[in-house]
Amino acid sequence: MIKWLSKICGSIESLVFPPTCIICGQLQSEGRSFLCNLCFREIIFLRQIRKCEICSLPITEEEVQCQDCRQLNPKFDKLISIFLYDGIGAEIMKFIKFNGKYLLIHNFIEDIKEILSQYEFDTIVPIPSHIRKFISRGYNPSYSIATLISKLYSKPIVYALEKVKEKPSQLELSIEERLRNPSDAFKLSKKAKDTVAGKIILLVDDIATTGATLSSCANILKNEGGCKKVIAFSLARTPHIK
Ligand SMILES: [Zn+2]
Ligand SMILES: [Zn+2]
Repeated sequence: MIKWLSKICGSIESLVFPPTCIICGQLQSEGRSFLCNLCFREIIFLRQIRKCEICSLPITEEEVQCQDCRQLNPKFDKLISIFLYDGIGAEIMKFIKFNGKYLLIHNFIEDIKEILSQYEFDTIVPIPSHIRKFISRGYNPSYSIATLISKLYSKPIVYALEKVKEKPSQLELSIEERLRNPSDAFKLSKKAKDTVAGKIILLVDDIATTGATLSSCANILKNEGGCKKVIAFSLARTPHIK
């Protein structure tokens, strides 16, 4: 009875206040969360462009790997991302990260399924936020993405990492600061060690900026946690270092 009533109320509500696109204010397209089809089509998906074979950074025709991967040798085995943190892709991520609109993630279920079905993994580990940030924001976008993937693939989430130092957001820093920034910010959670050893990990973040956070966490998971392999995943990827 309660279910039935809430359905009726929901239908009346959407008639009076039809759901609109969070970006342009037009009517939201059916089957999408907070987005219209026009805005969705403006997103630059990484499957459409030439990218680094390791970290998914857009590259030139002559390159196979980006300059960062050639010089910095990231500790993850692969970094997969869905779309570029640029234009509407960046707007969407700001709504997810700072406005609690994490249901926007549901617009990318098919893309996530398509790419992740190409990889084997045992366990999902999300990148944590500092406890103070988690409390002030009320949620962690990486946890929301990890939960969605966990449901899609029936794989467990292990909170194997802890953020021990609060650092400025990668998006606010220069390239040198970004690369230096995450090195001592994370540690392996003691109780997680036995659950990740020997496993193939899907390490999940919301945005990969330089990939330095993911590389640093992959290093901890492999060296201290004894993980076999770390595949990094982020919903968005910054196109270049500004
Ligand atoms: Zn729109
Ligand atoms: Zn690369």
